[in-house]
Amino acid sequence: MDKVIVVGGGLAGLRAVETLRGNGHEGALTLVSAERHPPYDRPPLSKAVLAGETDDTTVDADWDELRCELLLGERATGLRLEPVGGVVTSTAGDLPFDGLVIATGATPITLPGDGRQHVLRTIDDSRDLRSRLVPGARIVIVGAGWIGAEVATAAAKRGCSVTVVEAADTPLAAAIGAEVGAYTAPWYAEAGVELRTGVKVAEVRDGGLVLAGGARIDADEVVVGVGVRPELSWLEGSGLLLERGVVTDGSFRAYAGTEEPGSVRRDVVAVGDCASWWSARYGRRLLVEHWDVALNAPEVAAASLLGQDAVYDAVPYFWSEQFGRMVQYAGSHAAAERIVHRGDPSGRKWAVAWLSGDRLDAILTVDRPRDLVQARRLIAAGTPVDPAAIADPDVPVRQA
Ligand code: FAD
Repeated sequence: MDKVIVVGGGLAGLRAVETLRGNGHEGALTLVSAERHPPYDRPPLSKAVLAGETDDTTVDADWDELRCELLLGERATGLRLEPVGGVVTSTAGDLPFDGLVIATGATPITLPGDGRQHVLRTIDDSRDLRSRLVPGARIVIVGAGWIGAEVATAAAKRGCSVTVVEAADTPLAAAIGAEVGAYTAPWYAEAGVELRTGVKVAEVRDGGLVLAGGARIDADEVVVGVGVRPELSWLEGSGLLLERGVVTDGSFRAYAGTEEPGSVRRDVVAVGDCASWWSARYGRRLLVEHWDVALNAPEVAAASLLGQDAVYDAVPYFWSEQFGRMVQYAGSHAAAERIVHRGDPSGRKWAVAWLSGDRLDAILTVDRPRDLVQARRLIAAGTPVDPAAIADPDVPVRQA
């Protein structure tokens, strides 16, 4: 390939550049990114950066050695596909390519209303919010998901008066189910954070929130952590198949028009938070908005763009650090038949496993990193497990 364009300068974009070079791409390479910062890690934005422990999460990269032109602070505005290759239109002008990597990530969802609302996606968001987390500030966080819990942790630690409002009946209900999510509810009170569940927000106004029904919650700052949407606006009308993500096959090759083998583009791949990829392991499409995918999947995307055989078959994995605990999850519990407890969820260290028959579908661990590693291996291999061993926190998670 003579010219590859990578659109999006997050972790997936950077890893695409590195792995294209690593896989033998010798032609020109350009990375276009709307942010003016070179690629940086996002997980610390809601942890160490908010806590004031670090201010710079730039990922080490030698752009000269990578022979990559960097167009920072420039935005792709459209895509014109030709039978082979095409042109990315951008604020830096037209960028012709014969290979394209789409890695534009995701954009936070905001709430109705004209009051100031903070989201947390960029280093600038995090630095701005941190400057407002001063002792006594009334911080109201909408959403008791991963981001909401982490922001609450940091804000409480900085001496703010913190309230978290959540529409569901428990934290993390959408991510890990209400039963397991409920085990995390006491962590809020323990940290001095007020958790109000079953609360629907109507809008954000200056000075706080208006709830459905008209009641108000006063706040100095409102932080909204209610999820993200894949950033696809620049791809509208391009002919690529977009359905809550750029639809791709298991090698991250995008479809033009319909999801049929004949419609797959060999010169366009999408990867990271913006891609909805076919998982042969789960027999359905997955859109996994987690760091591990942005780190590892670009290797497969780069190889397939260069015409090499590569399929992504990893078990989804993520972690969250909240209220002094390390929470880790691997697998997918969507189709699991039952839950097995490993230790007492009201205690300090515990885990829950989701099983179907004698197979482990997923595991969530709280301050039990060894369990996570062992279980992740068994989930990946699909080997039968010993449910009695899983239920006993004193013996290793092991195969039957
Ligand atoms: P992004 O990182 O979103 O990068 C996309 C880039 O593309 C951005 O720089 C964007 O500005 C740019 N872009 C968008 N549109 C255009 C355009 N039209 N033209 C040019 N450039 C464009 N995951 C975990 O597993 N564990 C965690 O603890 C964790 N914590 C997180 C905490 C925070 C605050 C956030 C925001 C995310 C966290 N994640 C975590 C998720 C993880 O960071 C993401 O999955 C990962 O960053 C996705 O990388 P990406 O490169 O696909 O997208």
